Amino acid sequence: MASPLDDAAARAARYLAGIRDRRVGPVDIGGLPESAFPDEPATPEEILAVLDGAGSPATVATAGGRYFGFVTGGALPAAVAASWLVSAWNQNAALEIMSPAAIHFEDQAIRWVVEALGLPADSTGAIVTGATGANFTAVCAARTALLRRAGWDPDEDGLFGAPPIRVVAGEEIHVSMVKALGLAGFGRQRLHRVPVDGQGRMRADALPPLDGRTLVCIQAGNVNTGAFDPAAGICARARQAGAWVHVDGAFGIWAAASPKYRHLTAGLKDADSWATDAHKWPNTGYDGGIAIVRDRSALRHAMTVNAAYLPEGPKREPSQHGPEMSRRARGVELWAALRSLGRRGLADLIDRTCAHARAFAQGLDGQAGLEVLNEVVLNQVLVSAGSAERTNRLTRSVQADGTCWCGGTVWQGRTAMRISVSSWLTDEQDVARSVAAIRRLASDLD
Ligand SMILES: *Cc1c(COP(=O)(O)O)cnc(C)c1O
Repeated sequence: MASPLDDAAARAARYLAGIRDRRVGPVDIGGLPESAFPDEPATPEEILAVLDGAGSPATVATAGGRYFGFVTGGALPAAVAASWLVSAWNQNAALEIMSPAAIHFEDQAIRWVVEALGLPADSTGAIVTGATGANFTAVCAARTALLRRAGWDPDEDGLFGAPPIRVVAGEEIHVSMVKALGLAGFGRQRLHRVPVDGQGRMRADALPPLDGRTLVCIQAGNVNTGAFDPAAGICARARQAGAWVHVDGAFGIWAAASPKYRHLTAGLKDADSWATDAHKWPNTGYDGGIAIVRDRSALRHAMTVNAAYLPEGPKREPSQHGPEMSRRARGVELWAALRSLGRRGLADLIDRTCAHARAFAQGLDGQAGLEVLNEVVLNQVLVSAGSAERTNRLTRSVQADGTCWCGGTVWQGRTAMRISVSSWLTDEQDVARSVAAIRRLASDLD
């Protein structure tokens, strides 16, 4: 009798082998099983047969090359394979003593991220579930550092009665950054919103006065346009004032790994903390994010957990640097993804996906009544079909057609269909097929 792992591997391989020929949207979710909690046990083989038989066709084909919704990476083969092994290991990566191997690979992954992005070498970090978790982790460290400098320990004494911290962010701050600030006690409504320019970049000239009780949240990669806030000027002013700068670089910060796009990230290394995703541009599977913090003691203080049975070794203990205690060793997958790419492969992945985004813009702008709304500086393209109603109809017909999948958005008052090229698997043919389908569907709108 073969092991269920062999069965799972065979089914997964078949699934991935067929993914490029499939329609991208879900095929049929009518066949998904539903019942009361069964009395009797089932075998792994029976369970896999149901998951694969009913579940696989109902998935969204994000693992293929023509899913351009949200900012969704594919998953590199090395990452998927490493993830399987990590599942078999089933390590609890909370403490070094619980899994020296997992912590070793995760530490390497953090080091490589710091190197690839050109961040300060003595920074520390945490591997979390995504950029939302990373933003939250980093602003907790910011809160600790800023308030302790003001003579208040928020981790011991809470925020009630603490000196106020002002949070400054651009008008087009990502909603997940707002959520992270809310979770950290800064309040979603207390943000000072700085006006942005025609690409959604924070206007440095509109920055309010900064001081040692200011947290400035900038972004590297606007989720709609891909644009970067002007980090160099903002970080210089913040440094002088003693303010803390946090960078939401969920996908865009990876431009720093490409010699061709690195200029977009100028000045980012002078910030105090950075958040990014593993599952977007580095193409690990879901889920993974990384928080990097310059002030090691601030993160350590904010994330402290003490108990006699939690011994602390000389290494970075994950549970003392992130919000979780028990946790999957998800950083091993990031290690595998980065190792499989190397510096050259990572730069190539960034360059390739950005080139595909430009090809989308060239293939669509001015064709069949379509207009590209943004300067395509990175991997994001905003397409309008004229009115909001017409554009929404285009987005719906693209999704129904199934050749590719794109989501909708509203940006600076304009309704758009958003194309994000973030998968390692997307090639010229995928782009050509998708451009042709979008043009055909746009022509058929009236
Ligand atoms: C995707 C994204 C986030 C949130 O990331 P998750 O991985 O979904 O938590 C935050 N900021 C930006 C700019 C993003 O694109």
